[in-house]
Amino acid sequence: MQFLLTLSSLSIFPRAITAASLRSKVRSIRVSSGVGTTRIVLDLEGVTEHTLFTLQNPQRVVVDLTNATMPTPLVVPKLAGTLIENVRYALRGINGLRMVFDLRADATPRSFFLAPDQNNPSFRLVVDLERKKNARQGTKPVKTEKTKKKRNIVVAIDAGHGGRDPGAVGKKGTREKDIVLSIARKLEAILKRQKGITPYLTRRSDIFLPLRERIRRARSHKADLFVSIHADAARRRKAQGSSVYILSQRGASSEAARWLAKRENDADLVGGVNLDDKDDLLKSVLLDLSQSATIEASLSFAEVMLDSLRRVGKVHSKRVEQAGFVVLKSPDIPSILVETAFISNPREEKKLRSKAFQKKIAKAIHSGIIKYYKANPSSGVKLS
Ligand SMILES: [Zn+2]
Repeated sequence: MQFLLTLSSLSIFPRAITAASLRSKVRSIRVSSGVGTTRIVLDLEGVTEHTLFTLQNPQRVVVDLTNATMPTPLVVPKLAGTLIENVRYALRGINGLRMVFDLRADATPRSFFLAPDQNNPSFRLVVDLERKKNARQGTKPVKTEKTKKKRNIVVAIDAGHGGRDPGAVGKKGTREKDIVLSIARKLEAILKRQKGITPYLTRRSDIFLPLRERIRRARSHKADLFVSIHADAARRRKAQGSSVYILSQRGASSEAARWLAKRENDADLVGGVNLDDKDDLLKSVLLDLSQSATIEASLSFAEVMLDSLRRVGKVHSKRVEQAGFVVLKSPDIPSILVETAFISNPREEKKLRSKAFQKKIAKAIHSGIIKYYKANPSSGVKLS
């Protein structure tokens, strides 16, 4: 997932105004268009905080509303002749609403709020789309563009440890680094047969890779998802089952601070948006926004994954765990870490050594990935 946050459209209302008491309903949606422009108007019952960003491949504009609901069914106006191909929406979290506008061409969005006035009794959120000048204009029929725009999802598979770092070692001498590489390769083979997905292994052999190098590799391969594979160890020999981890908020904020401190990384921040000319406060707001969106996506991914693992074996913890793992710190790639089983438990060590169990785990991770995409149409990627 590549986030491109649009600075001009980032409206931040004071918390006091947007308290839960002001839960707002989207009454209707209107769309009108001019030459190379399209205007979306959401009629609202009240003020809501909103975030707007664009996603690429295919092009989408995403509007997240806080404290908002949607009537069902929402009447979507005719979209012929506009820059919008399709409108989707879903409730998000407890109070949120996400609207996704699939675009026919690359466009720059801009948004603003309008208060009720003589002509209109509603609060309105207006999103103006302007077709980008360099976007191919009418050189090709829309249909050809549509089929071309589909892109494979890149899933980065990260086999933990390697080289001089063996990871956890079982009673029988089983090394985590070997087991997880074997599972990663099996997962790669399964994903290669899956239409719409391109797997990428951060390591393919027994080499040592620093944690941040794993992130760098995944980012440079434009990964949409990141799955790190490990085998757990605990003092308590009876500890058993799989766990799924995502980055903790604390880990995320310390990471934000770190990225901000390391100015040479700025150009690389937030999906390639150059933050050089923004002040530190704005930078940290943008980074937070991207990271909390990523953590939220990671959480839904992790929940689906845990459910998928539960179907093939024991789980160690019923809930998704959060920790400050460095390898999960990409600000813009939903990332999870799967502890497949306990290598420190002699029974699980034996299982981990078996090709059959390794394959079972690989299949469970594969089905978790597929289910995640099917449950999250706002990812915009269609699996066939
Ligand atoms: Zn490990």
